[in-house]
Amino acid sequence: MPLMSSSRGPAILPGSTIGILGSGQLGRMLALAARSLGYRVHVYSPEPDAPAAAVSDKELVGAYEDLEAIRSFARGVSVVTFEFENVPSEATSAAAEHAPVRPDGSVLHITQNRLREKGFLQSHGFPVTPFRAVGRLDDLKKAAESLGLPGVMKTADFGYDGKGQWKLTRPEELEPAWHSLSGAAGIYERYVPFAKELSVVGARGTNGHCATFPVFENTHSRHILDFTVAPARVDPKVEREAQELARDILDQLDVVGVLTVELFLTADDRILINELAPRVHNSGHLTLDASLTSQFEQQVRAVCGLPLGSTELTSPAAMANLLGDLWDNGEPHWLAALEDPRVKLHLYGKRHARAGRKMGHLTATGSSIEEAMDRVAGARARLA
Ligand code: AMP
Repeated sequence: MPLMSSSRGPAILPGSTIGILGSGQLGRMLALAARSLGYRVHVYSPEPDAPAAAVSDKELVGAYEDLEAIRSFARGVSVVTFEFENVPSEATSAAAEHAPVRPDGSVLHITQNRLREKGFLQSHGFPVTPFRAVGRLDDLKKAAESLGLPGVMKTADFGYDGKGQWKLTRPEELEPAWHSLSGAAGIYERYVPFAKELSVVGARGTNGHCATFPVFENTHSRHILDFTVAPARVDPKVEREAQELARDILDQLDVVGVLTVELFLTADDRILINELAPRVHNSGHLTLDASLTSQFEQQVRAVCGLPLGSTELTSPAAMANLLGDLWDNGEPHWLAALEDPRVKLHLYGKRHARAGRKMGHLTATGSSIEEAMDRVAGARARLA
């Protein structure tokens, strides 16, 4: 008997094979969670010898444009899911000929492009940062005039970690920024002087049941996530609103799987959506050590049609990213960081450290958020 039946077919039970498109650190932690639940894991990506491949049963190396290779990958698995969302629609359609693709390619199509994503959210009544499409220099000038400066111009496609982003504060910066776009479709957003950045990681099962993790509070450095603490230090009303928002978005997009909502919180406690990621998220890494169910296990449960796990936080927690810059003066001092027994080290098995490259993270739990934060920041400082 399947554990849970739904209109999307019977549950995919342990022992089956899960296919993951993408093979970076998110895929690695997803594969580890899948394996501990007794699944087999196949990964597909253009990168040989990638972080997820080392912990998977099978690695297929191929381009996302190679539809025959994608079809053959999908034939070998019971369900296809993602750790990397910028996969062409043709690839998800080709995979869907042979196995359910979760979340569906239509979710990826919307979230791959900032204009489609913001247009979708706005038309469904969700609060987003004010924005305009930028196709020509004149559009950028008009957008800056109507929304005001400062603003942020971003490429509409394939942006992450602040790549393809220009903060504009003066009118004379518009034209050079426009040239940097090199003809790519762009978006201009009003700069939000946020009080906090938050994220909500939510999961939705094949039967439409939703579960969100407690709200995470994030700080960025050079546009890259630096620290996350949980639970976010916000008014309980904000916590509730943010979680409801995430659940509504998962419902409206008919997501099966995990989706993360990145939010700005203004000084007067208004929530604005910055962007969506149709997958697990860097800010959710602390769930591995501080939640009853990790975000990775939750994705496995959701895409396989198992009941979702409890998202309860077992303790206040903090996470610090470890970027390649830490290797500037040789191997980091792992022993010094681990002197604190409440600090957990996660490394992604990447062979080459580069500035800004995510190599691993540290998590600490504590009796308060501040204690967890001190522990994780102290451990990271001892690495250098
Ligand atoms: P994104 O790639 O859109 O997630 O942006 C990366 C980071 O840039 C965000 O987490 C913010 O710290 C900052 N950022 C992006 N857009 C805005 C905006 N409209 N206003 C203020 N900060 C922004």
